[in-house]
Amino acid sequence: MTALNPDVIHTWLADFASQVHENAAWLTDLDRAIGDADHGSNLDRGMRAVDALDAASFADSAAYLKKAGMTLVSTVGGASGPLYGTFFLRVGGALPPDGEIRASQWGDAFEAGLAGIVQRGRAEVGDKTMVDALTPAVAAFRGAGDDVKAAWAAAATASAAGRDATVPLVARKGRASYLGERSAGHQDPGASSVTLLIESAARTLG
Ligand SMILES: [Mg+2]
Repeated sequence: MTALNPDVIHTWLADFASQVHENAAWLTDLDRAIGDADHGSNLDRGMRAVDALDAASFADSAAYLKKAGMTLVSTVGGASGPLYGTFFLRVGGALPPDGEIRASQWGDAFEAGLAGIVQRGRAEVGDKTMVDALTPAVAAFRGAGDDVKAAWAAAATASAAGRDATVPLVARKGRASYLGERSAGHQDPGASSVTLLIESAARTLG
């Protein structure tokens, strides 16, 4: 059991915002190779807007995460805004009331976030998208037991492995799929940025 409240959520979102800012050029370079060279700059703009939200103004963690999701939908262009937005909206909607939270409850919320992305993006494992990082991350979280921090750490390791496994894949979703075989040999930008999100969770949650 660990604490769940808007301050805790703020530490996660602020850590992710700083990671996206520091890695924006790298994410954009990844997107330049197989997309339209805007993933880092778009997500950086969105997370700056999220970071500007006042955690103390929200009644609870769910309301904060829903606002963060809506902020990303409205500020991040392309496919990633709605996908990240849906993730945070679903996570917020699936969390228990603020107070103490168990690893299994975080797992439920994390899985709901992934389900929202899968539903919205209609991507499967192997399509070379963020789903390739998130799916093994949720499975690792579920298998890690009831320590919240250990579960997020396991999820981060699995997410990074899933991200790395996107390199040889031929993209079947999104703009990268237009390249066909030429998309192989490049790491997926969405799998890369979402791994930063899970690594931030491992640093700040639990
Ligand atoms: Mg792009």
